[in-house]
Amino acid sequence: MSTPPTATNPPLVCWSCHERALGTHFCSSCGKLQQIPHSLDYFALFELPKKLWIEMGALEQKFLQLSWKLHPDNFVNASEMERELSLKRSSELNDAHRVLRDPVARVEYLLATLGARKEGEHKQQAPPELLEEVFELNESLDELRDAKSAGGDLAALKVRLSGAEKTFQAKLAEVDSELFQAAAQWDAAIDAEFAGAKNQSERDAIKKQLNELLNRRSYIRNLVVNVQKELV
Ligand SMILES: [Zn+2]
Repeated sequence: MSTPPTATNPPLVCWSCHERALGTHFCSSCGKLQQIPHSLDYFALFELPKKLWIEMGALEQKFLQLSWKLHPDNFVNASEMERELSLKRSSELNDAHRVLRDPVARVEYLLATLGARKEGEHKQQAPPELLEEVFELNESLDELRDAKSAGGDLAALKVRLSGAEKTFQAKLAEVDSELFQAAAQWDAAIDAEFAGAKNQSERDAIKKQLNELLNRRSYIRNLVVNVQKELV
């Protein structure tokens, strides 16, 4: 994923020895800890390709290794610059780890780095295939709220809402499985690209699908959370 240096992307020069510093974290010339280049996303920070399946054991191992290398304790006697960099880079590493270990956050992040994460224009609007069930659910929620404020009988309403909650939990599981299928397609497209295939339009289609699935997922998740709040 090396991009040729341009005016906006100058070659990285070590702040300490002023050599071109090509290491991801440390200068390959003098060994000093480097600033985080803007082009370094979370995948690159872990030296991973921009793929969505990550082997968790390897991720954890790399995380421990980097945590140890970048840890502020190693820089107690170093210059102020290095102590600051160590703090910054350790915190960046923790952010990267938190995102990459979560399969959904990982998709969100990948799309964001590719400029392809677009939340729906009508965030509050139900996906068409869910319209009817969402309408019923909202009715049940209204009834429950009315019954709560009027001191009515809640048991039957709560049973109905619990049923609806299960239905939407199942839909969430469906969306997740579609999401992970699309993620696998993305990885296959990246592998094909490494092998020399030109597949820009295929990748664009997968990005669009991942984005739509994330929107559907977040809509359904909000519904489930709202129902759970009322059922407490
Ligand atoms: Zn250097």
